[in-house]
Order: sequence, then C-alpha cells, then structure tokens
Amino acid sequence: MRRVAVVGGGITGLAASLRLLASGEEVNISLYEASDRLGGRVQTLRIPELGVTVEAGPDSMLARKPAALRLIEELGMGDEVVSTRPEATKTYIVRGSELCPLPKGYLGIPHDPSCVHPPLLSEVGLRRALEEERLPFDVPEGDMALGAFLRARLGEEWVRFIGEPLLAGIYAGDVERLSLYATWPSLVDLARQHGSLVAASRALARSTRQAPQASGRSAFVTVQGGLASLTDRMEARIRESGRAEIHTRSRVTALTRRGHTYEVHVETDAGERFEERVDGVILAVPPHVARDALRSLVAMPAVDTFYQSTATVVMVYPRDAFGAELEEASGFLVPRPEGLTITATTWMSSKWPHVAPDSLAVIRAYVGRRGQDDALLLPDDVIAARAADEVGRLTGARGKPLWVRVTRFSEAMPNYGVGHLARVDEAEAALRTACPAVAVAGAGWLGVGLPDCVEQGERAAMRVLAALHA
Ligand SMILES: Cc1cc2nc3c(=O)[nH]c(=O)nc-3n(C[C@H](O)[C@H](O)[C@H](O)COP(=O)(O)OP(=O)(O)OC[C@H]3O[C@@H](n4cnc5c(N)ncnc54)[C@H](O)[C@@H]3O)c2cc1C
Repeated sequence: MRRVAVVGGGITGLAASLRLLASGEEVNISLYEASDRLGGRVQTLRIPELGVTVEAGPDSMLARKPAALRLIEELGMGDEVVSTRPEATKTYIVRGSELCPLPKGYLGIPHDPSCVHPPLLSEVGLRRALEEERLPFDVPEGDMALGAFLRARLGEEWVRFIGEPLLAGIYAGDVERLSLYATWPSLVDLARQHGSLVAASRALARSTRQAPQASGRSAFVTVQGGLASLTDRMEARIRESGRAEIHTRSRVTALTRRGHTYEVHVETDAGERFEERVDGVILAVPPHVARDALRSLVAMPAVDTFYQSTATVVMVYPRDAFGAELEEASGFLVPRPEGLTITATTWMSSKWPHVAPDSLAVIRAYVGRRGQDDALLLPDDVIAARAADEVGRLTGARGKPLWVRVTRFSEAMPNYGVGHLARVDEAEAALRTACPAVAVAGAGWLGVGLPDCVEQGERAAMRVLAALHA
C-alpha cells in the first residue's frame, strides 16, 4: 500500500484527498492541516436563535465551471444545491454617496448611451468608454496589468469607478498590479471574438436576455446548509474511507528525500516534531509555503503570489429596516476614490433564499483591499461600527443591526501579478523534473474560485498517482 501526504486542509486539499481515495488505487493518505479545523477559507456562520445560516468566507460557486458541482453530485448533495433568487438582479456602485445601478451588459461595460447615467460616469467618461468599439483590437502579446489593458480600451473613468471595484474587487486587489491573463483572460477572448469589449457586452446582454440557463440553475450556486456543509461532507467521506489519517494543528515545515520516498517534517501546535515517510506529496498551500517546504529538494522559481488580508462583517437587521428595493438588490461595490472603510457589500438574504427568515435582512460587508487596508488594524467593534454606519448612510437603513460578526482572513486573497502564469509554468516544470511525485495546487496557483481549487486538487492527485506508477 502506497501513502500520499496531502498538506493543507482547505477545499483544494480535501478535493485532492477524495480523488486519491476514489481512484481505485491502493493508496492511504495523511492529511496535514496547520489550523485546528479543515475547510480553510470556507467558514459558515450558523446563528440558531435567529434562524440564520450565512457565509463568513466564500458564498457562492460559479456554476459554469463544472468541477465543484460534479463534486457536490458525487457527495450525494445534488438536492441541496441552491440558486440565487431571480429577483435579486441589481448590483449598485457607490459614486458620491449615491447608489448607482451597474450598467447592464457584460461586467459593467456600457454598450449604448442609455446604459449609464451621471453621477456613475460623466458624459465624457461614458463617451470615452463607448468609443472602445471603434478602437482596433490587437491581442496583447505578453501579459500586462489588468488596469493598463482596461484603461487603454475603456478609459480612466470607467476603470476607476466600474472596472476596478468589479474586476479587482474579487481579489481584494489593485487593478494596476493584477495580471490580465491570470485573472481575466476572458476579456481578451471576448474582445477578439467580437472585435471590441463594447460589442461583446452588447452581444452577451442580448443572449442572456433571450436564453435562460439550460440547467435551470443560476450562474452562481451554493448549498442549503452553507458551504461548510460541503467541506464537512468531504471530511466525513475521507474519514469513512478508513484509509486516511487526519492531523490538524500540524504544520508541515519541510520535505526531504529518502531513496525513492519522501519524508514529511511536521511540527504540531504542542511543539512536538516528527517525520513521516510517504511515496508522494500534494502541497495544497500557498506558493511561498510550498517553495519553502521544498527548499532542500528543488530550487523552485518563486511564484510570488501576493496575499491580501481582508475581513467580512455580517450584519443582521430587522427586515423592515430597509425599503422594498432591498428585494431586488444583490449588493453594491465601493470604488477606491470614495474612501470608505467598506469595499463592497453582498445582500445575502436578498441574493439567497435559505439565509434568513423573511423577518430578517442579512448584509455582508467587506473590508480591506490592496493599498487600502488600514481599517484592518482597528479592533473588531470599531470595524463593525464603521461598516454599519456606512451601510446605514448609503441605504437609508432604519436603525442598527441586531447582530454583527467580524471575521478576519489573514493573507487570504491571492493577487496574481503580471507574468504569473509563466512563473507557475516554470515552478511546475522544475518540480516535475526534481520531484515527480510531488504536486502543487490551490488558490495561490491557478484560480481562486472554489471550482478552480477543486479542479486543481483533483488534477494534482492524478498527477501524483501517475508518477507513482511510472
Ligand atoms: C472573504 C472571502 C470570500 C470569498 N468568496 C468566494 C466566493 O464567493 N466564491 C469563490 O469561488 N471563492 C471565493 N473566495 C476564494 C476561495 O474561498 C478560496 O480561494 C479557496 O477557499 C481557497 O482554497 P485552498 O484550499 O486553495 O486554500 P485555503 O482555504 O487557504 O486552505 C489552505 C490550508 O492550508 C493550511 N496550511 C497552510 N500552510 C500549511 C502548512 N505548512 N502545513 C499544513 N497546513 C498548512 C491553511 O491553514 C489552510 O487551511 C473567497 C475568499 C475569501 C477569503
């Protein structure tokens, strides 16, 4: 019987573990997780006294990327998949303390003069964005900053007030430092296909109006009991296999080689140190952690993924604190120049049917993005008070939240810099040559979304199994 160590118990490491165990190969696993629980960034808050189930961490999965939904089906949770409420379609952007609707179309890219009104974009800013349709489109040869690409196409005002909060916001990132090809390659593909981003936005607006999703599901989905019920089920399956040892509070500090096998060096929270001999290893941890653990085996080129800290603030209000328009809103984004503490909100109870009883409204705010994260130095109660105050002023909420929770995610959001994909290729090539039965995977490498993480974990498992056969 072979043994594979999986390092990191986030969704990537859990998906890798399940794939190893389901492969039909004679393989046992040892799963090492530095913290006291599995699931990593996935954290669901359950407030039984209010009947609320809400995410502190990731809140949805992109249904178009199949890996996560396939996993959910395999775990027998297909009946628990929840779609977003169809009526919660409006996203707003704050401009000058006003909530302005995000232009209809693809990613807030305007496609006709009636799409956007001041104050969101000035007439000059809108005209400049629409001119993009007449610009020649040359596919950028090498990688470049997302901000530079968007500015050249759609102009400065669109980037500052729509593009950055929307496209960099997902990464809590800075649009000037994110890689175009590692974060939004679809922009290049669409512009190539339609000749311009404006034409692509128009075509997509038309096609989504005409064709509802064939699956009957919304573009983003989750599961009824919250995403922690998914990672809990993954953990349960791993334990039920009888072929896994799970070590929490156990940090892997190094890998060394012993003949054809590897030794995993572990340090526990209690200060105990030990080594385990294994045949293969999956490092489902950030690139700098993997590189450090591998330092005596391979001089792996640095991938240099920057990790931004962030926090979420979940606020539960009486439903009647807000007007009827709440039902139709999925949230709002805050452009950097607005200078607020919060960077965005998701209106969880409007977006999802399962989050709260009708008598309550649950709003989640985000705090901290690259270059604008001073607020994270403040104590929880001050962050919570600022978030509630800003949400109150922007939405006209009557009264204060009944319940508030700040959850901090230290160095949580990977920001892929320009040239990221080439660096990952180089690092993986060096690893394949030096240590064929060691694979890397996870949010810091090739995609931060949950489906990307599941897919990477599964692919890493297959790669290690193939190396064990070679
Ligand atoms: C606030 C927030 C909102 C998000 N929203 C969404 C969303 O709506 N949809 C979406 O698809 N994605 C979202 N994401 C992104 C997504 O949650 C993450 O990209 C994904 O969960 C990362 O999974 P992972 O397993 O790669 O990494 P992690 O979840 O970070 O897991 C890595 C694990 O490795 C452990 N570890 C690290 N070093 C060691 C070591 N040396 N030894 C042992 N263990 C170690 C860590 O403790 C951690 O548990 C969000 C993220 C955040 C923070």
